[in-house]
This record gives sequence, C-alpha cells and structure tokens, in this order.
Amino acid sequence: MKVKIASSRGFCFGVEDAIEIAEAAVETHGAGNVVALGPVIHNKQVVSKLEQAGLDQSGELESVDPSHAVLIRSHGAAPNTYARAKDRGLDIIDATCVLVKRAQNVVKQLHDEGYHVVMIGDPNHPEVRGVIAYAPKVTVVDKGSDLETALPYRERIGIVAQTTHSPVHVAEMIAEILKRPYREVKVVNTLCLEVTRRQEAAVALCTEVEVMFVLGGLHSANTREMARLCTEAGRETYHIETWDQFDASMVAGKSVAGVTAGASTPEWVIAEFVEKLQAIPPDTSVKS
Ligand code: SF4
Repeated sequence: MKVKIASSRGFCFGVEDAIEIAEAAVETHGAGNVVALGPVIHNKQVVSKLEQAGLDQSGELESVDPSHAVLIRSHGAAPNTYARAKDRGLDIIDATCVLVKRAQNVVKQLHDEGYHVVMIGDPNHPEVRGVIAYAPKVTVVDKGSDLETALPYRERIGIVAQTTHSPVHVAEMIAEILKRPYREVKVVNTLCLEVTRRQEAAVALCTEVEVMFVLGGLHSANTREMARLCTEAGRETYHIETWDQFDASMVAGKSVAGVTAGASTPEWVIAEFVEKLQAIPPDTSVKS
C-alpha cells in the first residue's frame, strides 16, 4: 500500500520537554521518589515507558509522601496546587509547557486589567481546568450552544483559547461573540502553532489520499481535533493509538493511505505503523 506521511506530525517541543524533565527528575531523585499528578502526557505508550523508568503517575497531591518530589505535568496546574504542594513541603518539579504557562499568565493579566475572561475550550480538559484557575471567575465555552447558555453580559470581555483548539473553530466562536453587544472585546491568541501546523498538514494530506490514519492517545485533545478536521475535510479517518488497533477492513479497496499523529505520539509508534501499512498489498483481500 502506498503511504503518505504528513509533513508535520508527532511530538511537539512541549511534550519533548515534559518527558525530558520527568526522566531527569527520576534520575535525580531516584525511581519511585517522583510522583506526577496524573499521566505526564496523553499517550499510553509513553506513560508506560515512564512508569517502567520509575515515575509514579497516579498521584493525588494529598497522598504524596513528603519525602517525594511532585511533578506538574505539561498541562499545568492551578495556583492552589502549587500552594498545597509547598505547604506540604514537597519538592516541585514543573513540566508545564511554556505555552500553557503563557495562557495562565494571560488569564491572570486580563482579569487584573478588568476584563471578564472567556476561555474557548473543553471545560473537562486538565489544561483548561488549570488555566481558568488563574482568575477568580472565567466562563468556559466549547461550542456555539454554550454562547446562549453560559456567556454572561459584561462590558469588557477578554478571550483566550485552549492551546490545542483549531483556529477555524476559535475564529467562528469569536465571530459569534462579536455579534453580541459587548462594549469591548479583547482577544489574546493562546493557540499553539505546533498544533496548528499539524492540523494544516493533516488536512492538506487528506486531498492526496483515500483514507487517513491519525495516531495518538484517545484522550489526547490535539489528536482528536486533528481526526475531527480530517473527517470534516471529507476523508475517511481512523483515530487509533497503535498498529494493534488496525484492521484490514480500514483499507479495503484503497491503495493510498495518509498517516499523521498527535503532538504526544512518539516517532517509533508512527514508524512502526507506517512500515506495517506499507507492507500491505494494495488490494481488498488482505487480512490484518
Ligand atoms: S501541543 Fe503546544 S501547547 Fe501542548 S504541549 Fe505541545 S507545544 Fe505545548
């Protein structure tokens, strides 16, 4: 089977940094002595490698042994998490992505300047839960219908977005907000260019292939968004984690497949998938 790979895909610098910080922390403090407050990134394969290296990722702050260090993952954390960790005398290792940190600072600054902060994002995503904690009251809107139900009237609103959202979705939401009678709307672009580049490359590849594979954690927001955009672009799309979830019916009758991967998907997962896909003859009779 002919396989085309997206020009931009896989690990971003934020994820690479977080993994490096986690590995270095385990090396410095010793296996079993560093507790991450949840999976360092949304990728099962990487999470299990880190676990094997001795990083505990099941962490609840309150149950971390005071002799251990606590690791804040790439999604960041609320200010009171840092405060509670300090109160307990824990060593804090901060692997928050710099772009998430920036979004946290922007939220605080907008609030200090008197804006009511509106965040476009998934209210259940750990990044969003952390970012909105940097102002006393932030309204989170994820989809158009939230604008009817959740958005309060304030004279001045300041808008930010979850780093992994697509610019098109964010622009549509802002256009809708602008139809409402706010006196002043300030938008600060908190989108991650690493994600935007991967999304653009994936959508461009959709025009050259018959089926798309988007590799990455099923809970990874940026991977899910990429799969959504490929489907929206009209291409049959499969969001799967690794080759184990591949089924020959996915390529039945197809001879050209596209492959891309979310920002938390390691290159070895992509390489293995591509190699195995390429080995499939371009006909419909093959079984996985
Ligand atoms: S996707 Fe962007 S915001 Fe998220 S960790 Fe990577 S670089 Fe940071």
